[in-house]
Amino acid sequence: MDLLSATLARVRPSPTVTITNRAAELAAGGADIIALSAGEPDFDTPPHIREAGKKAIDEGKTRYTAVDGIAELKRAICAKLSRENALHYEPAQISVSSGGKQVLYNALMASLDPGDEVLIPAPYWVSYPDMTRLAGGTPVILPCAPEAGFKLTPRQLAEAITPRSKWLILNAPSNPTGAAYTREELAALGEVVAAHPWLHVMSDEIYEHLVFDGFKAHSIAAAAPRIAERVLLCNGMSKAFAMTGWRIGYGAGPAPLIAAMRKIQSQSTNNPCSVSQWAAVAALEGPQAFLDEWRTVFARRRDLVVRALNGCEGIECPTPQGAFYVYPSIAGCIGKRSAGGAMLGSDEDFAAALLEEQGVAVVFGAAFGMSPAFRVSYAASDHVLEEACGRIARFCAGLQ
Ligand code: PLP
Repeated sequence: MDLLSATLARVRPSPTVTITNRAAELAAGGADIIALSAGEPDFDTPPHIREAGKKAIDEGKTRYTAVDGIAELKRAICAKLSRENALHYEPAQISVSSGGKQVLYNALMASLDPGDEVLIPAPYWVSYPDMTRLAGGTPVILPCAPEAGFKLTPRQLAEAITPRSKWLILNAPSNPTGAAYTREELAALGEVVAAHPWLHVMSDEIYEHLVFDGFKAHSIAAAAPRIAERVLLCNGMSKAFAMTGWRIGYGAGPAPLIAAMRKIQSQSTNNPCSVSQWAAVAALEGPQAFLDEWRTVFARRRDLVVRALNGCEGIECPTPQGAFYVYPSIAGCIGKRSAGGAMLGSDEDFAAALLEEQGVAVVFGAAFGMSPAFRVSYAASDHVLEEACGRIARFCAGLQ
């Protein structure tokens, strides 16, 4: 009898691990490595949020809490959704977990039976297909090309739906492309969902506040009110409040699903960190002005990176509306040989050779389900980004 389960065999090891490990090895050996591979803001958690965490410790708020979140946090989440998204939920429709990732995982575990299909537009966040497999479901990948702005069309959605389609996972602004949908585009997708009553939408809105050029991110629950009861809205503190390490995410949706998610959490991790929950209350109820500053900084960095990458031979880099990633195509580099002698047959080869020869770590497109491309996280200083783009330009200029 094998020690490891058959379920595990369905899940791929993280495709980003190889490059991350190699970058760490090279750095440990003294190489000058620039990592543009991390999915987290480079800002510190704002002071008023840190203070709320310290205060919670000093006040002894350090014990178990209600499994899926303290009442104060659930109320703050309901108020946020009402104020910012014009969506009205009761606390019984809210689930708080250890990060947005756990919300998604609980929801898939709570709802999928073998054979159930999860529609996932690509490029996708790396975890969606593997979480789906782990929960016993079948990921169905819907390719969304750069020419379509990396966005799912209503027609494509309609053609992909089968009687087994349980979820559509929408993530906008997107990791890895930064693409976001207008309210009208979401309403049109919502019409297709409305016509298939067994289909639900997991709407991952974790980058909603990181949008540029006056773009406003919308929830499909608000843009398509007819299907609001079939939407699980997923969000969290990690990206907008620079709280990746605090581990607080939340879901808002149908009460029976929320209760099922609570059951799973009660038998796995129990409550999210008590101190972090109080910090999250302060984040949601406190001043939000710092976000304007962050958006300005991110937009400047986005423009810097897009301009620089479009100046590299063989690279084409679209300008995204949000998040802190760009997803350039490297079709013009594939089939060439690098100055260091590596044959670039795939985007994985490209990322490996870029790391070995120029010391820049990026994540190759195959990890996100659309090639040949790579993802750059521009959550780094302007100076670091300029240096990294200079190295990428040298790497591309050396291709033959
Ligand atoms: N969803 C997307 C699209 C993400 O990029 C991430 C983090 O990278 C998450 C969810 C999960 O974030 P967390 O678990 O830190 O809340």
